Amino acid sequence: MSDLKAKDKQYIVNTYSRFDALIVKGKNATCYDENGKEYIDLTSGIGVNSLGFADDDWANAVAEQAKSLQHTSNLFYTEPDIKLAKKLCFITGYDKVFFANSGAEANEGAIKIARKYSFDKYGLGRNKILCFVNSFHGRTVTTLAATGQDVFHNYFFPFTEGFDFVKANDIEDFKAKLDDKVCAVMFEPVQGEGGVLPMNAEFIKEVKSLCDKKDVLIIADEVQTGIGRTGKFLASEYFNITPDLTTLAKGLGGGLPIGAVLCSSKVSNVLSYGDHGTTFGGNPVVCAGSNVCVDKISDKSFLDEVVKKSQYIKDKLLPLDEVLDISGLGLMIGITLKSKSSKDIAAKCVENGLLVLTAKEKVRLLPPLTITFEELEKGIKILAEVLQS
Ligand SMILES: *Cc1c(COP(=O)(O)O)cnc(C)c1O
Repeated sequence: MSDLKAKDKQYIVNTYSRFDALIVKGKNATCYDENGKEYIDLTSGIGVNSLGFADDDWANAVAEQAKSLQHTSNLFYTEPDIKLAKKLCFITGYDKVFFANSGAEANEGAIKIARKYSFDKYGLGRNKILCFVNSFHGRTVTTLAATGQDVFHNYFFPFTEGFDFVKANDIEDFKAKLDDKVCAVMFEPVQGEGGVLPMNAEFIKEVKSLCDKKDVLIIADEVQTGIGRTGKFLASEYFNITPDLTTLAKGLGGGLPIGAVLCSSKVSNVLSYGDHGTTFGGNPVVCAGSNVCVDKISDKSFLDEVVKKSQYIKDKLLPLDEVLDISGLGLMIGITLKSKSSKDIAAKCVENGLLVLTAKEKVRLLPPLTITFEELEKGIKILAEVLQS
């Protein structure tokens, strides 16, 4: 093990069990470790590097912005965040944006908006948020509480109150839990960390119509599914609904930290001066890069390519003996294996020059949206060899 890897273990809190590779540079979906070994990247971080490693336009925008103005407080106007907010609203039809720095923070923001909307209109007590079994919404104490997996509800007591969990795609369970204390429902269009499981479109439509009748808000957590990942700019387009709030993060910054809460006109004035904030939110350097991501990814032909690449991966992998099933949407792909362990496969892939992720028992692929067919062919070949070895 190199000296650096040992120092990592010594000096960085050991919250991640890392793969045995120290990555030093990359271009699009190809990267290199400290010894010059090449890897094909089917992870884009965890769905973060939407334009791959070191996209020229993105890198130039970031560098130019860093050289002229890297930060002011949110007490002043800056141009990149205004441009980005306007662009996001124009593309999605939302009314206003709140910028944060991560997915968990975006979800915290949406939860606060939902609770204040209800408080302003109905007073105290109507504050419950329905989430789904097996969901993942983040690592803060509140977003852990919103996460529908018991393994996350340990050690850090007391968790934030006011969350309940519905079985995904079970409308009777949903109706039973939609009581008069509920102010919002939060869902991932495709559960990511939970195992790359898309929600059923009919179910979501019915949830939306039941919620509309009771003035219960819908929050779509598109931290992983948003910004082209599924082949639509927002995954909720597949469900033909516009949630009252949509949260974004991972792919929005192209590799730099950002989160966003997209607010419909119904909720866009719930927060006012002093009600919420963040020091780094809307950072000019991050937003300059994000503007490049959004410009490229919102293009219809770019999104069509994402769908084609998705089909290519499925066509290549489905015939393999070890592959039982493939789930997901667009370039968010979960592979169910017949007998092998996903963790072992992922580690072997790294040895063989391929970066992949896991989600529970599945091998998970989140390639950069810009991956070329040449890179895909190389990567899938390695994966197939590892699966068949
Ligand atoms: C990753 C993720 C989060 C948390 O995002 P962070 O940036 O790690 O805080 C929340 N929701 C979903 C759906 C995610 O995939």
